[in-house]
Amino acid sequence: MPSTPPDPVEVGIGLGGNVGDPVRSIHAAIEALERRGVIAIRALSSLYRTAPWGGVAQADYANACAIGVTRLEPLALLDAIKTIERDLGRVETVRWGPRVIDIDILFYGDASLEDARLTLPHKEVLRRAFVLTPLAEIAPERVIAGVRVLDAARLLGDEGVTKWEAG
Ligand code: ADP
Ligand code: MG
Repeated sequence: MPSTPPDPVEVGIGLGGNVGDPVRSIHAAIEALERRGVIAIRALSSLYRTAPWGGVAQADYANACAIGVTRLEPLALLDAIKTIERDLGRVETVRWGPRVIDIDILFYGDASLEDARLTLPHKEVLRRAFVLTPLAEIAPERVIAGVRVLDAARLLGDEGVTKWEAG
């Protein structure tokens, strides 16, 4: 029996990349999410510049966040996102290594999920300035795991994350 589509759910995504032209990759990712009907984008943050971490020598990252609505279930959303990452030329290398595009699901409505492939909300969302700074721009009042995004962003500070143009 066909299942009826679930009601649209508000999702937050984090985007980043540091290979080739990462600003272009982020815009291409947003465009693909919309065109493929994965997420109807409602807001896109400014682009930010983040120094790499994790001990691998590599170029600065461009980062941004977006808010939108989806009709996909969480794991179907993850599959669609991973397909877009691959289509934009991402190849798996070392952990925390350079990548053309990384698209993470920051939150999916108020869902909390511990699946082998998907943790919701994203484990690091409240700990990374390159996520919180852009997210606070477009969803300051959003509450994730009981914490208001703007409060978390102020507490963490910008940790050297700057507007992309400023770099
Ligand atoms: P990174 O941790 O730097 O984002 P990847 O993009 O390679 O690294 O992600 C590794 C795996 O993390 C993905 O294959 C996915 O199954 C898993 N994952 C768990 N939770 C999430 C989430 N909220 N958003 C995206 N990927 C997630
Ligand atoms: Mg990822």
